[in-house]
Formats: sequence, C-alpha cells, structure tokens
Amino acid sequence: MSDVKKMYINGEWVPSISGETRNSINPANGEVLAAVAEGAEADVDTAVIAAKEAFYEGPWGSTPAQERAALLFKLADLIDANGAELTELETRDNGKPLREAEYDVADAAACFRYYAGLCTKPMGQTYEVADPMQAMTVREPIGVAGLIVPWNYPLLMGTWKIAPALAAGNSIVFKPSEITPLSAVRLFELIEEAGFPKGSANLVMGAGAAVGARMAEHMDIDKIAFTGGTATGRKIMTAATGNLKKISLELGGKSPCVVFEDADMDAAVDWALFAIFANQGQVCSAGSRLLLQESIHDEFVEKLVGRTKKIKVAPGDAEGVEMAAMVSEAHMEKVLRYIEIGKAEGATLQCGGVRLMEDGLDKGFFIAPTIFTDTTPEMRIVKEEIFGPVLAVQKFTDDADAVKLANDSIYGLAGGVFSENGTRALNFIKKLRAGITWINCYHPTYSEAPWGGYKQSGIGRDLGTYGFDEYTEVKQININLDPGPIGWFEG
Ligand code: NAD
Repeated sequence: MSDVKKMYINGEWVPSISGETRNSINPANGEVLAAVAEGAEADVDTAVIAAKEAFYEGPWGSTPAQERAALLFKLADLIDANGAELTELETRDNGKPLREAEYDVADAAACFRYYAGLCTKPMGQTYEVADPMQAMTVREPIGVAGLIVPWNYPLLMGTWKIAPALAAGNSIVFKPSEITPLSAVRLFELIEEAGFPKGSANLVMGAGAAVGARMAEHMDIDKIAFTGGTATGRKIMTAATGNLKKISLELGGKSPCVVFEDADMDAAVDWALFAIFANQGQVCSAGSRLLLQESIHDEFVEKLVGRTKKIKVAPGDAEGVEMAAMVSEAHMEKVLRYIEIGKAEGATLQCGGVRLMEDGLDKGFFIAPTIFTDTTPEMRIVKEEIFGPVLAVQKFTDDADAVKLANDSIYGLAGGVFSENGTRALNFIKKLRAGITWINCYHPTYSEAPWGGYKQSGIGRDLGTYGFDEYTEVKQININLDPGPIGWFEG
C-alpha cells in the first residue's frame, strides 16, 4: 500500500475507507503508472465534514482575502517551481504532447495568480435609496463547493475551479477524473506545502457514479461546479435538487469553424488544423465542424488534407511529436466507432480513419487524424460530439447559410470565423449562438475572460470575474443612518 497515491482529506493523506485502489495507465504504452486510492460515497462524506468544519469553525472561514491571496500566490509559485515535473506527469497520465502539457501548467499558474489578485479587488456596490437609509452589497463565499472535472486537461480544468473557489473563501471537495488523477495528487501536495489550513481543500478520487454522484446529491455541499459531458451534466442537475445547491456546468460542444471565400486561405488552413487536432481533438471547444464556402471548398480541402497527412503522431514525450495518444483504450474505441458510423452514413473519408499500430504505437492508443467530407447535417458525425481527432467538413453557400448551419446544433459552446472583411466576420459572430468565439483564429483562451456555453453546452461561466461570481453569494445590507423606532404600530 505504501506506493498508493492517497486522497487528501482534512489535511491528511488517507487511503480510501474501503482500501480499494485503481491503476492509472499511461495511454502511450499501456503501462501502469501508479495505484490510486479509489474512494466511494463514504469518503465524500468524510471530506464534506472536514470542509464544512473548516468553513464554519476552522480558521479558513475567517481567513481574510489578503491572506487567501497570499496562499494562492504561493501556490502559483510552487506550480512554476515544479513545472517540469507537473508537465511530465500530465503527459504520462493523459497522453498529450509535452509542449501542450507545458502550456497547461503555465496556464494553471497564471490562473491561480489571476484569482489571487482578483479576490482583494472591489466587489460590492452601494445604492442611493430613500433617506435615511444606505444600501450596499457584499459578496460572500457560498460554503462547501464540490468540484468535478474531466480528463482532457486534468490540471487546468481543476485549476479553473479550485482557484476561484478558494479565492472567494469557499472550502472545497475536489474530484479529478478517475482516468487522470496524478497531476491532482501533485497539486494537492503543493496546496499542503503552500500552507492552506486543514479542511479548506480536500481531494477525493474515484468513479463518477460513486464519488461524483454522491457529491452532486450531498445535502451539505452548497455548490457544484462541473465540467464534463452533457449527459453527466444532466444527471448532476437532477441530483442537485435535494438541497437546491447552486450549480455551474461546463459541458460538451460541436463547434463550427467557418471559413468565408475572402479569408486568408493558408492561415485559415493552419488554424483549422489547430482547431480540431490540438490535444487529439479531446477539447470541448474543438472546431469539429469545418464550414467552408462552396467556392473555396475543394482547394481548401486539398490543402488541409495534405497538411493533415504530415502530422507527426507519436508518444507525447517523443521528439517532434504533434499529436499523441488518446486518453484511454475505451475512449479510442469510442472514437473509432464514430469513424465507422461516418463511413456507414456515406461521408467521404479523406484521410486517417484508423488506429495507428506501427513503430511501437500498437502498445498505446493512437488514432490517425481523420477528415470526412460530403457530410449532411443529419449525419451523427456532424451532430454528435466525438471528442477525438475527427473533422466533419460542411459546405455553405452564403452568409445566411453559414449562420444557419453553424447554429444547427444542440450545443453552443464555441465557434470561429475566418474572413478578411471585419464587418462580415463580426456580423457572423453576433448571430452565432455560442459563448466563446474567435475571429481569424481559434482556441486562444485567457484566465481574464469568461468561458462557457449557450444551449446544452452548459450553465454559468468559468474564468474571469464571472467565474469568480459563480462561487459567491450576494448579500444586501441596509443601514439606518437615523436609528430609532419606525412607529408603524401605535399601541
Ligand atoms: P464525463 O462527463 O464522463 O466525466 C466528467 C467528470 O464527471 C469525471 O470526473 C467523472 O468521474 C464524473 N462523473 C461521471 N459520472 C458522474 C455522475 N453521475 N455524477 C457526478 N459525476 C460524474 O466527461 P469526460 O469523458 O471525463 O470528459 C469529456 C467531456 O467533458 C466532453 O463532453 C467535453 O466536451 C467536456 N468538457 C467540457 C469543457 C467545457 O469547458 N465546457 C471542458 C472540458 C471538457
């Protein structure tokens, strides 16, 4: 048991109550990286008791914003100081190329710094109301926040929730994905080293159906912040009704990347590749539908396919790697099934479409970057989130047709447009029903700006001041500046 990665509850590293463990696998070669404590409902209950006590009775609940900020700045410095180790750990556990993991770690440190700075800035408002009253608002933490995240950006998705939740003064129970828990374990070691008081930050690992579901229904968790699939988000919303906990949901997408005929074609090809194949396509905001104006369709596809065939797929730590392993065998199989569906639906497979097995890749879970053309809006590969390196190309006639096709989705997470005509591009974006948009680029994301979706892509926002507000309650305070009786009743 000594090598088992433990959970962090009430300032102690503990095994799961059941003693169960789960192996974390390196998807580049199938090797076991570590055994990890596998929590269940009872472990969540213990963590919630600790978090509640820390908030209501421990020092954390009365830790002033300046001290919370100092702790978060220290944590950011520790992330930087351990950046190389975190980067390598993320690549080994998730599979992603090292250069992407490096960005994730740098972004995580930046996000902790952003919220460390934000929590000491002005928050409330004052209102001029009838004399002799003065009204004002203050923002207060919600209480115990349960944070549940997926496997595609294990450290970064965690940070997007942990940083604002702690900055606002909540205590937290955090659950990483059971597939990629290792960077979270390391992060909590750094949280301990930074000196956060016991019970303020708790780490519980385990399956979604046990740990996650218990968190969603727990009567003493006041807020759930979730990132993951739309189907899971729906379950969480239902489970959260018991105590009407506050919820924010960052869910799936099927986002359009739209190229008008007046775009800089070579630049648009370059961004379109990045839009779909970054992180092996395992990105909620991936530009997984490429909408091309019909006049440029054939030339654009030819260039795109040519460049796609040159993408170097290899283990995440290999020299010159551009795309790496899918996160798990099960997920790889799911993506391969979608490729078969695309073929059966009658779309034209332009490239990829297979599992890669040469040069030792057969030990891991690698898929060749895949492009389908001749799609129709009814096809499942156009409608459903595949969450892999599979691009569905669609054709449009004019601006109105582009808007119609782009919005033809249950999702509304993100979208990008390419055009040399700024008015045309902005008009398109204003009609796009999505929360995150780009003009002449795709994917850049910043801690400062809100992140989240329209329609079935979610509720609420991560990041920015909006992301902070999700972890606060607003209190109205009315002050009588002429104290004395009201005199409403005469007797
Ligand atoms: P998932 O929904 O299967 O799992 C996400 C997390 O929820 C995991 O920690 C999992 O253990 C947990 N979970 C599973 N069932 C649960 C339940 N019944 N109750 C509570 N928790 C439960 O998603 P995934 O496969 O890990 O990640 C991929 C999905 O995440 C994609 O749909 C992607 O679009 C989405 N995503 C969205 C964003 C965003 O910002 N909108 C960002 C990243 C990923």
